[in-house]
Amino acid sequence: MTTPNDMFDLTGKVALVTGGSKGLGLAMARGLALAGADIVINSRNGEELKAAMHNILEGTKQKGRSFVADLSQRKDSIQLAHKALETMGRVDIIINNAGANFPAPVADIKDGDWDHLLELNLSAPMVLVRELTAQMKQRKWGRIINISSIFGLRTKEDRGAYSATKAGLMGITRTMAQELGPWNITANIIAPGPFSTPLTDRLVQGELREYFDSMIVLNRWGKPHELVGPVLLLASDAGSYITGATLAVDGGWMTR
Ligand code: NAP
Repeated sequence: MTTPNDMFDLTGKVALVTGGSKGLGLAMARGLALAGADIVINSRNGEELKAAMHNILEGTKQKGRSFVADLSQRKDSIQLAHKALETMGRVDIIINNAGANFPAPVADIKDGDWDHLLELNLSAPMVLVRELTAQMKQRKWGRIINISSIFGLRTKEDRGAYSATKAGLMGITRTMAQELGPWNITANIIAPGPFSTPLTDRLVQGELREYFDSMIVLNRWGKPHELVGPVLLLASDAGSYITGATLAVDGGWMTR
């Protein structure tokens, strides 16, 4: 009989977590390593990556590699996929987590910001999946987890570009689920609500923070480690019959 521990065990798997140097990506990468996966992370900052990798692997027997790659640049996304495969021999789990937000009213969106967000939040996940699914198909096992946002389901003033990319990510994830299901590759969406990270600590201040606070049913912001359970469910055999789903991890925001 398969025990609950066996279901969540990721021994022998390799997980690529984009933006694994801090915030939600760092917490998810640590959780995946503790569950037995070898880890690949990237960001734009080599020093932060080194420290993060130490943190992620501490006390485990897992292997890890980190790469400087700017996923707002198409060639870096393609290279990251290839380097992950070359160094680890396989990638079984893709967590498309790296993302950014440049809030602005639609009337003031700068072309450069729009292009950056589209490339980083939406195109890079497509590229990584495109480059890495052939080898998953060969093994008939794969997990794709795309980190969207409650702002992919709802929106708010100044979130136009961000919401567009996060809603787009939901759209393509459902297509991935349909196309890859026959190879036992699942594709799911996690839509986080407010988690305290360098991103939100910087962007959510003053009246906006009061608004966020008023939307949270659980009355407190999420801590990054509270994403580990949801990600392990979708990354392991425990979630083997879940595909094309959107899991809001939002302290109840979506009930408002
Ligand atoms: P964060 O603290 O800013 O961390 C973002 C990670 O992505 C960092 O490792 C960052 O490293 C990396 N990154 C950013 N731009 C990059 C680029 N151009 N190329 C490569 N890596 C890049 O953000 P977070 O709050 O953990 O958010 C993680 C994901 O969750 C994002 O997709 C975000 O939209 C989503 N999300 C977060 C919340 C929340 O409340 N925190 C809510 C909903 C959704 P460098 O900057 O050093 O490159």
